[in-house]
Amino acid sequence: EKKYLEVEAFYLSGNQEVLLIINDYTPLHRMEENFKEFLGNASHELRTPLTSIQILIDLFSEKKITLDEIYNEFFPHLRKEVERMSKLVSNLLNLSRLEAGVIDLQLKEVNLTEIVMEVIDRLTPHISKKNLEVNLKIPEKLVINADPQHLDTIVFNIVENAVKYTPQGGLIEIGVNENEDNVILWIRDTGIGIPEKDLNRIFDRFYRVSKSRTNEDGFSTGLGLSIVKKLIERHGWTIRVESKVNKGTKFEIIIPKRKEGIENG
Ligand code: ADP
Repeated sequence: EKKYLEVEAFYLSGNQEVLLIINDYTPLHRMEENFKEFLGNASHELRTPLTSIQILIDLFSEKKITLDEIYNEFFPHLRKEVERMSKLVSNLLNLSRLEAGVIDLQLKEVNLTEIVMEVIDRLTPHISKKNLEVNLKIPEKLVINADPQHLDTIVFNIVENAVKYTPQGGLIEIGVNENEDNVILWIRDTGIGIPEKDLNRIFDRFYRVSKSRTNEDGFSTGLGLSIVKKLIERHGWTIRVESKVNKGTKFEIIIPKRKEGIENG
């Protein structure tokens, strides 16, 4: 990888000594590259459905197409495109709210199991389409202190990735380990995995391992995990990832148990 460095030199003590300051702009540069790529993809992604809608409006107003035809031929396709478009926009909104620090936590007692089940429910069409097996190793009820909506986003984004990046016929396992201090929620897949050099960057905004614009499951924004990371930090939790290329990936969310006494101030 190319480095982007800026070097400043100052003479000290009557030209006897030189102070060198080296600024490493590589991370900033990376971020900018990721962002440029994202902008290109996002604009394209937003324009596609808009173009379809535009064509439909034109055809319809010129009476070249009937409502029946619109309904039967265009709707299924259009619905998918609009879904992707709204997902992109809500991801962007979420991220910008998080960055602005205006999302607060509404902490409640939440049944983690229920959230996991709901997420799987919503992803069932994709899971069945790819013939994935989903194994749950999670108690029937596990109450934690969390913001239910944010917890939903966290679990959804991670499981959605597991589905997205696991080929036909693969396995996804979701489980919970508990010890004295923590509840650990883990999500494991037998998917394509993440190269070691990318592992610490997947939580960066707009970062994607593969640069291809879309896959069969739609647009990949590189936003999901950066939102996950922010929400997890906001809760005071941590996230860990382990992965092997062509073997699979495991995410762990470490949720500290509240200690008596601290909890009640
Ligand atoms: P997106 O999936 O929209 O690209 P994310 O922020 O959710 O964005 O993920 C960032 C990148 O991390 C993905 O582009 C992908 O390369 C990689 N990644 C995330 N989860 C997995 C996984 N379970 N298996 C393999 N790669 C993954």
